Amino acid sequence: MTSPNRAHHLPFAANLPVTAVYDVVVIGGGSAGCTAAIQAARLGARTALIEKNGILGGTTIVASVNFPGLFHAWGKQVIAGIGWEVVAETARRGGAELPDFSVVPERHWQQQVRVNRFLFSSILDERCLDAGVALRFHELPGAVMPREDGEAGVALVITGKTGLEVLLTRTVVDATGDADVAGLMGYAREKSARLQPGTLIYELGGYDLDTVDREALAARYAAASAAGKILPTDHRSGDPPLLRELITRGGSCMHVLDIDGSTSRSRTEAELKGRQALMRVYRLLRTVPGCENLEVTYVANECGVRETWRIVGEAMVTHDTYVSGHVWPDAICHSFYPIDIHQPDSIHIDIRPLNPGVVPTIPYRALVPRGSDHLLVAGRCIAGDQAANSAYRVQATCMATGQAAGAAAALSARHSVSVRDVPLEALRTALRTHGAIVPEAEPSDDSPVRMAAGNVRQPALVSARSWVERPRSAP
Ligand SMILES: Cc1cc2nc3c(=O)[nH]c(=O)nc-3n(C[C@H](O)[C@H](O)[C@H](O)COP(=O)(O)OP(=O)(O)OC[C@H]3O[C@@H](n4cnc5c(N)ncnc54)[C@H](O)[C@@H]3O)c2cc1C
Repeated sequence: MTSPNRAHHLPFAANLPVTAVYDVVVIGGGSAGCTAAIQAARLGARTALIEKNGILGGTTIVASVNFPGLFHAWGKQVIAGIGWEVVAETARRGGAELPDFSVVPERHWQQQVRVNRFLFSSILDERCLDAGVALRFHELPGAVMPREDGEAGVALVITGKTGLEVLLTRTVVDATGDADVAGLMGYAREKSARLQPGTLIYELGGYDLDTVDREALAARYAAASAAGKILPTDHRSGDPPLLRELITRGGSCMHVLDIDGSTSRSRTEAELKGRQALMRVYRLLRTVPGCENLEVTYVANECGVRETWRIVGEAMVTHDTYVSGHVWPDAICHSFYPIDIHQPDSIHIDIRPLNPGVVPTIPYRALVPRGSDHLLVAGRCIAGDQAANSAYRVQATCMATGQAAGAAAALSARHSVSVRDVPLEALRTALRTHGAIVPEAEPSDDSPVRMAAGNVRQPALVSARSWVERPRSAP
């Protein structure tokens, strides 16, 4: 854990050009970042979305986890809003088939929606541009400093192809999946002692399953395994091993162990380890009669990373609050997924389905780094323990927390208040107006964060709707 020291001055940055001023800057264009940016822009905030890659969608697209879930629980929809709008539009254009959500499935993943990667990411582009989001690909934040123009907010030192520049913004949403911006700003974060493995997703072709010699597959596997040329974590369990990979033509099959995707260097190692594992699988399969012409027809651009940093928030989602379906007083969205911990040293997964009827909720305070005024976090890296995180990290929940962070960031910017002083009812009203499903909870105060921290109470505010609709306050 690091302690918060917020933004700090960097002498070298004094002469950098200030190239743009925004109300909200979202860093990271994955499930959480896209919904955050679209929501903030739809609420009228001048919004930029900074993404280090050249495509939107994050893990869904570049790691090919293109099966977002879960929007439905126990036969009804529990997450809607902007994320669902994009999934439904992908289906409408022929890029996804929607299962019958009125039926409670035998296995949770049966109600995930497999989306076409091109359509999904293109629809994200369209929705961002239509909302007025300034899309800034191939950029990364290098530092966060205080503003020097007398306005509240921060100055972001951004690095891109032409070097460094400075963007000014009132509010930042960290949707990097790794809480990178929270780290740059010195807010407390935590990471599990043993991180879950990653996975490189791929697709196989060039063979006819009926002609594959299964006895030879078993023999070649045994020999390769004895020689250390294939590892037990390179594939799922199967009899013989690797037959399942052939049947499913690849997919999410391997565990890449001992990786930590939170630094560029350790992330590089993860990419290399993932491709080395796939090369072992490829080499072995090509020796099996019937697979002589086997090809890797597709491989994800990045090794999928399940877990890195989580912020220390104003509240924390724990295993117990998650599995009990606790309705937080400042709940801003639902979440629905089993506890799903991938073992750090094997191919096994500890899956613990939720009890019938349980639908967990996520508190706004889990999006707020402790003590933050200008930074919100959304997606995989919101505050929670490892077990709860293994469930709420799924894409539908990331989209919902993104939309909530985007709305809160826009309201914070418009009214020039700390993210801890955004009134809960105004936030909820904004979210409902923009199609989100907000859990029914009894708010105990208009300003959930300060109250929970035992600090300042907000003065009585005009109605939530007028707060949402009130124009931006004069500087
Ligand atoms: C192998 C695997 C299987 C999974 N299975 C499922 C599943 O079945 N269903 C499901 O719903 N979820 C699943 N998940 C979980 C889910 O996909 C992720 O937790 C979720 O997509 C995370 O969304 P996010 O928006 O928080 O982060 P991401 O999608 O990772 O987005 C972060 C974005 O920020 C960008 N970025 C990162 N750092 C910076 C930076 N410093 N500056 C600028 N840009 C930056 C990245 O390029 C990326 O675009 C799986 C995950 C993995 C790895």
